[in-house]
Amino acid sequence: MKKITLLIVLILCISVAAYLYIDTKDPVISWGVEQNAYINDALKINISDDIGLKDVCYSLSGGSCSGEERCSSDLGSQSFDLLIDPGQCVVDSEPLKVKMAVKVVDTSIVANKTEDSIELTYDRQAPNLTTLGGTLSMKRGGTGVVLYEVGEVPVETGVLLDDLHFKAFALGQNKYLSFYAHPYFVEADDFKPRVFAVDAAGNLRKIRPGSRTASWTYPTEEIELTDDFLEIVKDKMMATSTSKPLDVFVEINNKIRQENYQKIVQLCQTTVPEKLWQGVFLRNQGATRANFAEDRTYKYHSEVVSKQVHTGLDIAGLNNMEIQSANHGKVIFVGEIGIYGNVVIIDHGYGLHTLYGHLSKADVREGDHVKKGDVIAVSGETGLAFGDHLHFEVRVNGVPVNPIEWFDPVWVVNNIETFLPKADM
Ligand SMILES: [Zn+2]
Repeated sequence: MKKITLLIVLILCISVAAYLYIDTKDPVISWGVEQNAYINDALKINISDDIGLKDVCYSLSGGSCSGEERCSSDLGSQSFDLLIDPGQCVVDSEPLKVKMAVKVVDTSIVANKTEDSIELTYDRQAPNLTTLGGTLSMKRGGTGVVLYEVGEVPVETGVLLDDLHFKAFALGQNKYLSFYAHPYFVEADDFKPRVFAVDAAGNLRKIRPGSRTASWTYPTEEIELTDDFLEIVKDKMMATSTSKPLDVFVEINNKIRQENYQKIVQLCQTTVPEKLWQGVFLRNQGATRANFAEDRTYKYHSEVVSKQVHTGLDIAGLNNMEIQSANHGKVIFVGEIGIYGNVVIIDHGYGLHTLYGHLSKADVREGDHVKKGDVIAVSGETGLAFGDHLHFEVRVNGVPVNPIEWFDPVWVVNNIETFLPKADM
């Protein structure tokens, strides 16, 4: 009896040891793409196993490929990259639907197996792009619009300019519209905007929007910083700072200005895909105190300490004057933004915004719909402002543009509205 018990225990121990020793885990197939994905290149599939791969077989069907099985045997390694190129199956046209099936066996004495398949669309053709119309003549700091048609439904489209991406808005039937800017910081010779579309397989097509641009000179200004002025700036903006007034000024003018700029760019990503505005933009009453794209050089004891560009138009009227909305739109921001002080931002749709800065008070709330001429705020000198005035900006997809164009009814008709669909007029 004892012998039998001992034998059972021994068999159990051997079985457990064998179970622990023998690999029973199946090999793993990592496709790297989802089922029914679009691809425009050979697919690299990773196959792995914790002890070693023996045989890897695959088949490819679709187009001229009949699904014949091809194998690599006695691999031995724990990881193997299998490259399958559906390009060989293309007969005449793309996109082509293909099916890939993979079978794997590992080196375990129980020969663990895995089988899997995937269906994909192989497409190397970039989408067709055709411009339907748009602004013909632009200048540095100005705005343009382009209407175009894409041959298939794109996953991404718009206007590209270096690292700027101007959004596009669908108009139905594969037609799109995009407002774009010739930013003041790009020289005319370097201004190369491209309408682009990317399809589901990742194929990219770029074409010219068809506009010509011209260089444009904006005023320059030299500002000599006095100690009194620097003290006032420090008291106003960073009273508790232990830094020297000049250092405080340079930090505000460079770092904080840049942070504020980026915040506004972010805020301007909120826009409705329709035209809320109508006709020319309204200019608030008052004298122009500073121009758009004015190049400012700040000097202290005749030495240049900072350089900045003014991104809006400064209008000084009466103190605490009523500020009107430049056009119909929806209020997307009311709050404080560093050097801008109290700010209201209005979305006019299609990525177009107006911004009102240095306000003493806002009379609107986020989400309010406003009409052209509605009183939205009261002017002031909050933020980095000296003397009551309105800092007014027009932005296209977050890029500041010359507001003067938008105040000109002839320009608005000839350069923008002429090209918009009739439903948007
Ligand atoms: Zn200003």
